[in-house]
Order: sequence, then C-alpha cells, then structure tokens
Amino acid sequence: MNSQVSAFKLLPSVDKLLQKEALADVIEVLGHDVVKVKVRAAIDQLRNAIAANDLNVIKQLESPSFIESLCVKIVDDLNQESASTLVSVFNLTGTVIHTNLGRARMPEEAVAAMSIAASQATNLEFDLETGKRGDRDSHLEKCLCEMTGAEAATVVNNNAAAVVIVLNSLALQKEVLISRGELVEIGGAFRIPDVMKSASCILKEVGTTNRTHLRDFSDAITESTGLMMKVHTSNYEIRGFTKSVSETELCELSRQTKIPFVSDLGSGTLVDLRQYGLPYEPTVKDTLDAGADLVMFSGDKLLGGPQAGIIVGKRELVEKIKRNPLKRALRIDKVTLAGLVEVINLYKDPRRLSKRLPILKDLTRPLSDINALAERILPLFNSMLEGQAAVSVEACKSQIGSGALPLDLLASRAIAIRPVADRVGKDAFLTALSLQFRRLPKPVVGRLHDGALIFDVRCLYDEEGFVKQLKNLKAV
Ligand SMILES: *Cc1c(COP(=O)(O)O)cnc(C)c1O
Repeated sequence: MNSQVSAFKLLPSVDKLLQKEALADVIEVLGHDVVKVKVRAAIDQLRNAIAANDLNVIKQLESPSFIESLCVKIVDDLNQESASTLVSVFNLTGTVIHTNLGRARMPEEAVAAMSIAASQATNLEFDLETGKRGDRDSHLEKCLCEMTGAEAATVVNNNAAAVVIVLNSLALQKEVLISRGELVEIGGAFRIPDVMKSASCILKEVGTTNRTHLRDFSDAITESTGLMMKVHTSNYEIRGFTKSVSETELCELSRQTKIPFVSDLGSGTLVDLRQYGLPYEPTVKDTLDAGADLVMFSGDKLLGGPQAGIIVGKRELVEKIKRNPLKRALRIDKVTLAGLVEVINLYKDPRRLSKRLPILKDLTRPLSDINALAERILPLFNSMLEGQAAVSVEACKSQIGSGALPLDLLASRAIAIRPVADRVGKDAFLTALSLQFRRLPKPVVGRLHDGALIFDVRCLYDEEGFVKQLKNLKAV
C-alpha cells in the first residue's frame, strides 16, 4: 500500500513531461496537441497500473532514469504511429506489372512533372491565350490523337471508370451486346456483368462461352440495342474448339447497323511490342484502324504510366462522354495528368523507349544481366541460411501481369530457397522466412512455390541497398 502511495507521487504531471527537452523535437514536428494526448495517455496508463498494484511498473517508477525512458517510449510510439504504412518494397514476385504492388513504376520525367504539378499552381483548366477556363483533357488530347489516329480523346481515373462512363454515356437503359466468352472478372471484383448494371445498361450475352459467330451478333440486334462491346480477355485464354468474332467483322456490322462498337483493351499499348522482342499485344491504333468507334485502355498497365483510364475514338462519342455528369466524378487528378503527359511523350521516340520507360526496361532486361545479378547475390544467401536451407539460382518465368499477354512468360532467374531435406516443418519455416523478408526495412516480396521461397530478380536494380539490409534479417 505504501509503495503504491509513493508511486502515485512519483508520477509526473502532463505539463511537466511536455517541458522535457527529450520531447522538444516531436513537439516541433507533430505539434503540441498530438504529443499532449500521447503524454496524457501514457500517464493514465501508469496510474492504472499503480492502482492495480502492478509491482513491475511501481519498481520502474522508482528508477532514477524513469522519466528519461518514459520520454523515449513516447517518442518511439509517436514516430511509429505517424510513419506512413505505405512503403516502397522490392518486387521479386516475378510479376512485373503487379496490381497489389502498385503496377508500373514511373519514369523520372514523369515523376519530375508530377512533383511540379503537386507543388505549384498550373494551367490545368486555364487557357493562357484567352485567359478563360480551359479543358484538362487538352494537355493530352492532341498527342494521343497523333499517336493513335483518333479524332478525339479523354481521360478518367482508371480503365474501370473508362468502361463505366463509356457504357453509361452511350447505352443508358439500352442493351449492350457482348460475347459470352468475354464476360470476364478482372480481379478486385470488377466483373463485366456487374459493371453493366452499375452503368445502368442491360447486358445481352451473345454466343456461347467458346464460340461466338457474327450472326449471333446480328441476330441479337433489336430496337433496344445501344452498343456492341469487345472486352480483351486479359487474364485467361480459351483454347481448343473456339471461335470469336474479329474486330473487323464487328466494325463492319457496326457500320451497317449504325450501332457503335467499342473495345476495352484492358492493357493496351501505343507501340508494337514486337520491336522490343516481346509478344504481340493489340495496339490502340490497330483497334481504331479496324474500325472501333472507341477504345479504352489503362494508364498503368503496359503503357507504363500512372493509374488512368484513356478513351480515344470518334469525336462525337467522346463529346458525349465529356458532357456526362459522371465525367466530373471520374475525372483524372492534376498530378496524375502531369505524369501521364510525360509518359505519352516518351512514346514519340520508340527507339529510346525501352531505356526510358521502367516497365519496358523490366520486360526487356537481358537474361544474362538477370543471371549475373542472381549469381552475385547467391553467396550472401548461402552464408546466411547455411545449415537451414539450400539456396540456388534457378531458371524461372516472369509474368507480365495485370492481364497483359497472360500466356506469354519471360525467361528469368530466381534465388530459390529450399529447406534442408531433414528439416521438420518445412512449410512453417518457409512461411516464417518469407515474413522475415517482408519485415525488412524495405520489404522484400517473393513467392512460395513448389516447396521453395522464390525471389525472381528481374525487377531488382538497387543491388547495394538490397544486400545491405539483409543483415537485418532475423534468424528463423
Ligand atoms: C485491367 C482491366 C480493366 C480495369 O482497368 P483498371 O485500370 O485497373 O481500372 C478493365 N478491363 C480490362 C479488359 C482490363 O484488363
């Protein structure tokens, strides 16, 4: 009882603690009020512990360095709470455009432009010649049209938004014809049938899962048909006894019937990727040339820019979209726009593109480079995991990701960690080890596959930073 009474007396007051030199820095950075709340909570907690006769706490209070260590704890807690949970990671998953890891990394030029747009006033929607209100699409439209041959272009928040606004602007309360084999789910609960509903359109499935003919489309056309749509089946491919209607055929039908035809390319690209030794992916221009009225594609998939949804095509239809009140809700933000303009500008010089655009640099990284890197870091892993696991450089396949070219894989090299044969609890060991890698100052994300922890090093560039932090890896 006595020790409790004297412990209460040792508790500092909130104001007294706030005057401590040790808290001056956090007060400067986070503000007096934030720190005060934390200090009060810490003292309350101590008071409760004393009331509960917690002898450990009472003993701590009697220590001469008590106030000092209390301040250190408060500063640590405050720093931890104020730190962002969004951190940079090493993407060694083998999926280059990884949606959960933020998709495309942006080129320097784009990052610089984004920084200016973020920190300064810009002529975002201001015409410097007339001094009147301008159009935010104007910064991109000319360039996009030149590159794709489109009459007009507009940009929204992401490609999902592009699909929604196209449907809602062109086929409100009307039927949209789409091949049954294209009723895809793109992940993150973006399913074409649900999207139709939320855009207030009526889905009309045409054909069967594996085969759709042109006559399936022409037979389905009625008074209530508003639109024909093709969706790039980006995350799977149906093989075998299949038939799909080509874009050219649908475009011809669209011309005859005057029903607009739009194509959701998903990833979409502005250049023929074969020039970089990559597989063919339909370009936006190819699709427009085939006769599509509108094409929608993502800014942060193969294009390699920021999250955005780009719509290009017939002027009349683009104008309709711009007049839709949803446009205001789905519009692209100024920082994103600034980055996207720079990325699209890089496409004007396709020959230098694979050096300047990170996504293309990743996808075209020579296997010899990847292999040499893996071999260089292998000994480090070996010494670190000696006796616990066998580590080797293994051939693996990187995926492009985000639904682009789903069946085309790129030869790559990985550090593969396999628990030693006589080890019990192999799976638990690998799970624990992969968690330790994710808890590094800059988390390392790999994948567990076939009884091994696999780190595909295709997307590893900061070798020095990577190696340096491995010493922080806790023993498993
Ligand atoms: C990825 C994708 C979308 C969605 O694009 P986001 O930019 O992720 O919003 C829509 N349609 C297709 C075919 C896609 O592949």
